[in-house]
Amino acid sequence: TQWFKGKKVLVIGLAKSGMAAARLLHEMGAVVTVNEAKDMTGTKEKSVLEDMGVRVMSGSHPLHIVDEGIEYVVKNPGIRYDTPIIRRAVDKGLPVVTEIELAGMVCGGSIAAVTGSNGKTTTTTLIHEMLLESSVPSYAAGNIGRVACETAAVVQPGEVMVTEVSSFQLKGTEEFHPRTAVLLNIVDAHLDYHGTRDDYQQSKAKIFANLEASDAAVYNAEDPVAASIAEQSDAALVPFSVNGWSTEGAFIRDGWYWFCDTAILSADEAALPGRHNQENMLAAIACAILNGAEPDAVRTTLRRFQGVEHRLQFVGSIHNRDIYNDSKSTNILSAEKAVAAFEAPVVLLAGGLDRGNSFDELIPSLQKTKAAVFYGESREKLAEAARKAGLESWQFADTLAEAVDKGFQLTDEKDVFLLSPACASWDQFQTFEERGDTFIKAVQSVQIPR
Ligand code: ADP
Repeated sequence: TQWFKGKKVLVIGLAKSGMAAARLLHEMGAVVTVNEAKDMTGTKEKSVLEDMGVRVMSGSHPLHIVDEGIEYVVKNPGIRYDTPIIRRAVDKGLPVVTEIELAGMVCGGSIAAVTGSNGKTTTTTLIHEMLLESSVPSYAAGNIGRVACETAAVVQPGEVMVTEVSSFQLKGTEEFHPRTAVLLNIVDAHLDYHGTRDDYQQSKAKIFANLEASDAAVYNAEDPVAASIAEQSDAALVPFSVNGWSTEGAFIRDGWYWFCDTAILSADEAALPGRHNQENMLAAIACAILNGAEPDAVRTTLRRFQGVEHRLQFVGSIHNRDIYNDSKSTNILSAEKAVAAFEAPVVLLAGGLDRGNSFDELIPSLQKTKAAVFYGESREKLAEAARKAGLESWQFADTLAEAVDKGFQLTDEKDVFLLSPACASWDQFQTFEERGDTFIKAVQSVQIPR
């Protein structure tokens, strides 16, 4: 971190993470410029930064900023590599990293990092709670908790930072070195950003890139792509499997969760529903124990932990229908898992941002659902999959609120009424939290079906 003293650093994108990165770099003695596409004139963020002595340029991304002696670039993970200013920086041979790279540099303790297409937040939270329950000092970062580089700055030797890392973040890493790296699963997500599947998989693989023999690579042995990536790592391999695939690592056998030769918990005692959560729990068991958690504390946590908001969250029972908010379901895999988690008939609400993909992979799930309502940009494509699935009862709606009203009319008593959109929310909402809250509010006023 001494390296940054007096160095000219450019932070591109001023969301929460840009703010944290700029502050940290400034504290390390860098001469920081922040560049944000949105006009920040008159905002609190701008004045806070300027009071610190950080230069703020907002309203556009003028290419010339990169040419003003900049030596290092930290970009917001969401900014694509084909953005002209990023291209210019890459062409000039400048390091272009994300804030997780800074987190790795300043973290005094060890890092446990979790990646995968789905389940990152759930698994990260579980690991963190298992460690706390074992009195291992732990900090959680990422979607829950604070930005990683802000959290990392306070983590001391002997303490653990558990952080989720997206493929966007990992693409911007060079020396990022977690001691335990977890790869949950890989599906074709974010192809609009990464361009190709290969690029997406390579970004995920970077979580293992700097691991050494004394580190651990925890991975889903049932996911062939995840397994083949993990197996190339230099670290100790710690597979997990819901099928008792091995007696190494974490696995379920004869209805019990195991870690190596320790029986942890009878599977029906765990609070989280669904097979996908069994995978998350196994990954968490392995990662937490490798970082010093006690089997007893792991057991207690698994019995208690009900999940994170907006992830297959039980909202309540309304007119004798079980309502589930899975607003964080932003791709096909998560919607598949949500439908598969229930034995009762499911009435599904899905739709949102159109990323250009087809929904053919959702056909088996649509064959299992009783009825569906499709809304938002992607609704035509979802309807196409429903027709192929032979689903008879489905409708269109313009908004989520309308989808709730129409969908509820398709339910009977004891059905599951599920929002699991299979799409990002940005066509109609700012965030998936806002979408989930809209759903929860709308279901409060539904009419009993006639
Ligand atoms: P992430 O942080 O990777 O987005 P979350 O834990 O927030 O993951 O869950 C996102 C969505 O994926 C939710 O709809 C959740 O029910 C679903 N999900 C969680 N874990 C898994 C898994 N292991 N496999 C598939 N889907 C999952």
